[in-house]
Amino acid sequence: MKKIIKYSTIAIATILLISGCSEDTPKVEDGVKHETKHHSKHWGYSGDVSPAHWGELDEKFKMCSEGKQQTPIDIKANKDIDLPALDLKYTKGSKNIIDNGHAVQVNVESGNIFNIDGTPYELKQFHFHTPSENHINGKSYPLEAHFVHATKDGKLAVIAVMFEEGTMNPTLTKIIKKFPLEHNKAVPLTLSKEYIDVVMPTKREYYKFMGSLTTPPCSEQVKWFVFKTPQTASKVQIEAIHKQINKMNNRPIQPINGREIDE
Ligand SMILES: [Zn+2]
Repeated sequence: MKKIIKYSTIAIATILLISGCSEDTPKVEDGVKHETKHHSKHWGYSGDVSPAHWGELDEKFKMCSEGKQQTPIDIKANKDIDLPALDLKYTKGSKNIIDNGHAVQVNVESGNIFNIDGTPYELKQFHFHTPSENHINGKSYPLEAHFVHATKDGKLAVIAVMFEEGTMNPTLTKIIKKFPLEHNKAVPLTLSKEYIDVVMPTKREYYKFMGSLTTPPCSEQVKWFVFKTPQTASKVQIEAIHKQINKMNNRPIQPINGREIDE
């Protein structure tokens, strides 16, 4: 009887050891897979992954703390030049909408072109920040849209639109109809070119400056164009976008460091 108990104990201990090992192995594999899938570290807007820490989270994010031409900024024009009208040739609509955990983003069909000094920059997506990231002459807005454009070789240009509280925007109505969005799950959204156009104001005077991405890796050499005239969105629309993101997704204002801000 004693022997049987002894053997059973050994058997159970062996099973526990084996299962213990087999449980450990997939965990390591998961870790590796996780690292491979997400090249960059987790970042956010609060706690120990807040904007103040972005530069320390990953070697690839070092521009977030070391960069000298970062965005957002408090825009105060310091050079009055005759800026040409923006050469926007948007002809295509949108494909889908996604809440990537950092912003609500609308991905568009290829073929919407922003020509800058003869170079075509193609619109990739537009997304929203609540409240605004950039300020204009010290003023913050409740909502800011960013239209992100890229050349074939990866140069970036962003057009920013401020929103103040007022009349509802028809495109935001179509966007909000897709809420609530699950994180990282794209949902079809087919906005026509006209609906994309009306996210921007009709009066298109703008400020221009060199800046960065406002999210990690905070890469610089990004051309920024910020419309002077804000659009309007209703209180309900602004609150709906804020509720979907469920946090303030605005990076704090960054130093100008002697940059030229054209108007
Ligand atoms: Zn943005």
